[in-house]
Parts: sequence; C-alpha cells; structure tokens
Amino acid sequence: MNNFSIREFLRYFLMIDFLSGIRVGLKYFFKPKVTLNYPHEKGPISPRFRGEHALRRYSNGEERCIACKLCEAICPAQAISIDAEEREDGSRRTTRYDIDMTKCIYCGFCQEACPVDAIVEGPNFEFSTETRSELFYSKEKLLSNGDRWEKEIARNIEADTRYR
Ligand code: SF4
Ligand code: SF4
Repeated sequence: MNNFSIREFLRYFLMIDFLSGIRVGLKYFFKPKVTLNYPHEKGPISPRFRGEHALRRYSNGEERCIACKLCEAICPAQAISIDAEEREDGSRRTTRYDIDMTKCIYCGFCQEACPVDAIVEGPNFEFSTETRSELFYSKEKLLSNGDRWEKEIARNIEADTRYR
C-alpha cells in the first residue's frame, strides 16, 4: 500500500468526508435562511423591475395616453398595435391599444418612450396563463392593470425620478 492509498484509507476509516458534511450542515443550520417559501413569502423587487404592462390614468380617471404612438414605433418586437381618433373635445385618444405579450421581450423601451408615463411595466410578475390567447392584452386589460397597480407604479416612478 503506497502513501496515497494509506491516506485514502484513513480518510475513509475516520469518516472524514462524512464529518465534513456534518460540519457544513451544522454551520448553515444556525445561519439566517437565504431561501423563501414562495409563493407564501416574496422577496423585495427593484423600483425598476419590468413586469406586466399597464396603462395608467390621471387621478381624475382620464387616460394618460395621448395616442402619440411613440411606444408602438419604438417597440423592437412590434408587439404594440394602436388605433386612434380625435375626440369631440379635440383630444386624441386610442380606440385600440393591444400588446401581444407573447412577442414582448420586456426591454422597457415603450415606457422609456412614453412622454406622459402612460404605458409602464409594473411590479406584477405573476401573470402566467393557461392559454396563449390570454396573453393578447387589450386596452381594457391594460387599463385594469393600471387601476390595480397604480399605487405601486406611482411609488416606483417617484423612487426612480432622481436617477432619470
Ligand atoms: S417592453 Fe419592449 S418589447 Fe415589450 S412592448 Fe415594450 S417596447 Fe415592446
Ligand atoms: S402609451 Fe405613451 S407613448 Fe404610447 S401612444 Fe400612449 S402616450 Fe404615446
């Protein structure tokens, strides 16, 4: 038996690897947990997180979007489709605002291009669906997302303003 194999034999006989494993286990047993019990626990997310899209309104309920179509033009995935018309009061508003979420690459260009912070990628990351068709978002769906997440979206925009 050469030196190398004697060392291996002792290592095996004295259960060095086993005891090393126990030592590592005990070390982490008393450390704070780094895992979360999702979905019951959720970690913090950045104000810049780019999640599910939403169309926002002003506090009086009016749509922010002025149908300038900048978001549609800049979208590299060509996921946004907008139709627009002029209202009786002379304002321009969308009659159709669709996002094909199966095309979207979450680049954030649409919200960067929007001059009135109307289209945003909100904090919601839990919007998986069972069917493909549910990922074709209509204006109604996007506005309802905006209504639902407005508080968080406004807070995130406010937190990020100083860096823009
Ligand atoms: S996040 Fe990017 S890919 Fe998605 S809709 Fe906006 S511009 Fe298009
Ligand atoms: S969401 Fe913003 S960028 Fe897109 S059409 Fe409306 S105002 Fe223009």
